[in-house]
Amino acid sequence: MSKIKVGVLGATGAVGQRFVQLVANHPWFDLTVLAASDRSAGKSYKEAANWILAYPMPDHLADVEVQPISTDLDCPILFSAMPTAQAKEWESQFAAAGYAVFSNAGAHRMDSDVPLLIPEVNPDHLDLLAHQQANRGWDRGFIVTNPNCTSMPMTMALAPLHAQFGVETVIATSMQALSGAGYPGVPSLDAIDNIVPFVAESEEVKMNQEPNKMLGVSNGKAVTPAGMAISAHCNRVPVADGHLVTVSAKFKSKASLDDILAAWQAWTPKPQQLNLPTAPQPALVVRDEPNRPQPRLDRDAGGGMATTVGRLRPCEALDVRFVCLAHNTIRGAAGGSVLNAELMYAQGMLDSFK
Ligand code: NAP
Repeated sequence: MSKIKVGVLGATGAVGQRFVQLVANHPWFDLTVLAASDRSAGKSYKEAANWILAYPMPDHLADVEVQPISTDLDCPILFSAMPTAQAKEWESQFAAAGYAVFSNAGAHRMDSDVPLLIPEVNPDHLDLLAHQQANRGWDRGFIVTNPNCTSMPMTMALAPLHAQFGVETVIATSMQALSGAGYPGVPSLDAIDNIVPFVAESEEVKMNQEPNKMLGVSNGKAVTPAGMAISAHCNRVPVADGHLVTVSAKFKSKASLDDILAAWQAWTPKPQQLNLPTAPQPALVVRDEPNRPQPRLDRDAGGGMATTVGRLRPCEALDVRFVCLAHNTIRGAAGGSVLNAELMYAQGMLDSFK
């Protein structure tokens, strides 16, 4: 089977390196293009990237020349790990030029005609793409986004509960890893021996808007949000990787703790049914120990693609409390985009790029 050529925009950064790790040896995609800023363009990848992963840089990519960002890149599919401002400037231009853009950046997530996708949660929201192309005059290109790394584990944990019981209210407190700020990210003297009760102005807004869009209903032209009241508190903690979120939730219909456990355990969404190459089996890892999940022990579940939930117990203020966790640069970033592309490939939606 011939593979589709793909490229990574922002290939030298923290998320870009995860993209490289995940698609360097992919069964369906052939990573041929690495692009980054003018600071890196023209250098070999090994010179340009300050490689920060424990997984070694793939040998066959070390000497590949980093390209500048331009719409002349020789691959029809692009994974974007650019900063938001550059994503805003470039991603529409790429889509207009006919590229399939799978973006991890925040620039277009809340555009009404752009799917904000978790393949387990809202695969049907891909029905926005026909409208997106008609709306913007794009014939082949499109933009599909994946959520913020903190919205992601919470939305995964809530999705099977929302489907059965209807989530009404959520109070969520995040403990977000340092790698969420990219590299070099948070200064060491702010991070060590400390907790910073602020991530970015937009972080708590994203925690409110993104789960409501993903758990909302698409009519093919826009999404009616789920209408959950979400109160989010976002904090930066001295952990390398893995965002942990404590959640209190109230439901529209009554749900016992056993009902919730059963809903989590029975959940076998589309990527798992289709057995997509990077889909974790299971999508949700349910832990029953009283002290799990923990970032160091649970972030690599399912190759960093699974979401771990645990500490399910009654809530005196709302209905239930639990903890959820995912690897922020794998499933919360690059891995989320790669799974989006795999879902579209498996459904024949990338055939025109072959
Ligand atoms: P990062 O480590 O700072 O990397 C930024 C990347 O963008 C580098 O490859 C950099 O290339 C490139 N870049 C910078 N300025 C550019 C320009 N003017 N033109 C083109 N490329 C440019 O950041 P990151 O953490 O990987 O984040 C990348 C994106 O993913 C951001 O939009 C971020 O919000 C989003 N995100 C990150 C996480 C996470 O956990 N880290 C999670 C979800 C989403 P040079 O090396 O050449 O400067």
